[in-house]
Amino acid sequence: MLSRTLVSLAAIPLILLALPSMAQDAAPQVTFKTTELAPGLHMLEGVGGFGGGNVGLLIGEDGVVLVDDSFPPHTEQLLAAIAEVVSEPIDFVINTHVHGDHLGGNSALSAQGSTLVAHDNVRSRLVKEGMPTPDGPQPAGKEMLPVLTFDDAVTFHLNGQESYVFHVEHAHTDGDAVIHFRTANVIHAGDVFFNGVFPFIDMDNGGSLDGYIAAQKRILEMADDESKIIPGHGPLATSADLKASIDMLESAKKAVGGLLAEGKSLDQILEAKPLADFESQSWQFITTERMIRQLHRGLTSQ
Ligand SMILES: [Zn+2]
Repeated sequence: MLSRTLVSLAAIPLILLALPSMAQDAAPQVTFKTTELAPGLHMLEGVGGFGGGNVGLLIGEDGVVLVDDSFPPHTEQLLAAIAEVVSEPIDFVINTHVHGDHLGGNSALSAQGSTLVAHDNVRSRLVKEGMPTPDGPQPAGKEMLPVLTFDDAVTFHLNGQESYVFHVEHAHTDGDAVIHFRTANVIHAGDVFFNGVFPFIDMDNGGSLDGYIAAQKRILEMADDESKIIPGHGPLATSADLKASIDMLESAKKAVGGLLAEGKSLDQILEAKPLADFESQSWQFITTERMIRQLHRGLTSQ
């Protein structure tokens, strides 16, 4: 395979570290864990560090579809994990949204011939502002841009699977797509769902508190007790896990909203610890304090 022989010198240490025997003594290094959720439908999770967003992979006789592609430090490992499941090239890559930990592998994949698909706003934000990362925006070259964009929804009819890709408005960002693999009863929610931890609602990129909750409710309506839900981050989920996220957001919104209605300032709200019941959902990126700030901004910007 050409891409293997042309592997850059910089990538070699990453590949070596990915070997289990050598990883034991090394610094944490992300590898990908693959779980088959239904025949031909897989979830790939980065483990051993911040592995980027969860990836979906649909394979079968008609072609290969990838949902999200993590980010550059992990592209080689991701492609290696995919190659263990399927040897054919990846035909389509669907980006769930504009964040760098979900579409950072776009350039590498389009160079391999994959067709990049996303909501209109993903492309327009990449063109206008570049790719958002926690370290600030990075320039997005032509090879990173989706070439097939949609406004409301698009359906893939491949591998005996109806894959309904639909937009949810102003949720995590303003370009979110959710993928409902209807035949398999699997949903890839992108970052409209962080399972078990506080979500990031990116209001600087068109996300909104109420849109986020509304999008989660729309996904919940599509799901049943048997559904498997791939969250953008966190472990594979059930509809009960999604319901728990909605309940948490609604209670948290109510708690912070109540304090706002009493005339409390942001500092007073932080001091009142309105999210004490949900402390276990605090994590490195969205701490309890940051979650309260998000709720406050969401409630005061409406
Ligand atoms: Zn995101």
